[in-house]
Amino acid sequence: IVIVATGGTIAGIADSPAGNVYTPAQLTVESLIRQVPQISGKASVEGLQLCNIASQYMMPRIWIHLAGVVDSLFSGDHCDGIVVTHGTDTMEETAFFLDLVNAHERPVVFTGSMRPSNSPGADGPANLFNAVCLAADPAAVGKGVLVVMNDYIFSASEVTKTHTVNPQAFESPDQGPLGTIRGGNAFFYHPRHGRPFLEKKFSIAELANRDLPRVDIVMSYAGATSLLFDTLVKNGTEGIVIAGVGHGNYSEQIENSAKNAVRNGVFVVRATRVLQGGVSSDVENPFKGQVVSRSLSPQKARILLMLALTASREPADIQRFFDQYP
Ligand code: ASP
Repeated sequence: IVIVATGGTIAGIADSPAGNVYTPAQLTVESLIRQVPQISGKASVEGLQLCNIASQYMMPRIWIHLAGVVDSLFSGDHCDGIVVTHGTDTMEETAFFLDLVNAHERPVVFTGSMRPSNSPGADGPANLFNAVCLAADPAAVGKGVLVVMNDYIFSASEVTKTHTVNPQAFESPDQGPLGTIRGGNAFFYHPRHGRPFLEKKFSIAELANRDLPRVDIVMSYAGATSLLFDTLVKNGTEGIVIAGVGHGNYSEQIENSAKNAVRNGVFVVRATRVLQGGVSSDVENPFKGQVVSRSLSPQKARILLMLALTASREPADIQRFFDQYP
């Protein structure tokens, strides 16, 4: 198993005795591995330091680099599985990006921690142990990119961070976890669970030498003006995901701007800031040409739109990418 480390709180060091004030992304991958000697009874591991950053600084360029590394490790038959350690703030985004471009069947498991490495009750070692056990487990093969946090296994496309500080910080609000890990053994709740949704992955080789199209997110709320939306359009954004209210609705000003933007060739995806239910169709005030996010959160809809725009510029084709999600 190769452990690819990117930083985050799991590699963080606390400056205060209680561990609540800390600096993320300090430890190297070798130190992370040394903290969990129990791993050696489960798998032979190798560390690879991809970067060492807090995940609020994560960027699409690093996603592409990571995807290239994963592709070459598996293509070269270098390992049976990969664990990615990552900050929890944007873990779901990097994991989802990788899920969209990783065509390999072998397990890729993301993990991190909510508490820094030297705080009382640090959760990093247990999470890393679980992630290695899962990446080494044949039952995880073919399930798409997985996330393991606090003994639960999640699918990259479904998981989201739902708590700012508690170690029980990850959930799949609509679908629930895929399974759990106990004593280093994975238990999947249902065999159907955890199949990757996208039929055909985006080619990482084609993405390696280009920047992804720029896509932004605008939130709607009571009295939301279209100032941010219009500014983004003026500044050349190619797509806007609206984190709408309710079933993907938005204020009148944003609605007018969205209609104009679609007429001018900017792609608009109707998503929701609500945690469950997704946006399945244009229910209220529909207009032609906008796309609905289905079950993807705004931050994941943005990533799918960035990739979809590398393949097509037809709203109907773009919608088909989203329609593969429930
Ligand atoms: N800000 C940190 C990060 O995402 C939080 C964490 O890792 O839990 O890198």
